[in-house]
Amino acid sequence: MGETLLGHRSMRPKLMCDDERCCPNGAASTLDQRRHHAVRSRSRELAAIEHQPHISWRLHQIGKDARMAAAISVQANEVLKEAKVKERIGVPGYEALAGVMDFLQSAAEEAEAA
Ligand SMILES: [Zn+2]
Repeated sequence: MGETLLGHRSMRPKLMCDDERCCPNGAASTLDQRRHHAVRSRSRELAAIEHQPHISWRLHQIGKDARMAAAISVQANEVLKEAKVKERIGVPGYEALAGVMDFLQSAAEEAEAA
């Protein structure tokens, strides 16, 4: 699945790791060391969220990232279907996460206003 998606002209820039310290040989490094890339990538994402100064910004960022992941997953699933790859990326989990972030963000805003 990773080879198919990273080999696709329009998907590659959306999925490729752009951190040269993480994946110095681009897509080849990501594919060859996918577990290492996944751990480093999640670590970077968590550090970025932790760096947000306010909880509402964190919730907004997580929701925004989840919506982007859902949209890219829909596109990726089309590429996988065209390539006759059976695996699919689960979209509902990303959409549910975005919905939860919206709920928590509005609850936090209501609590601040009260
Ligand atoms: Zn990487």
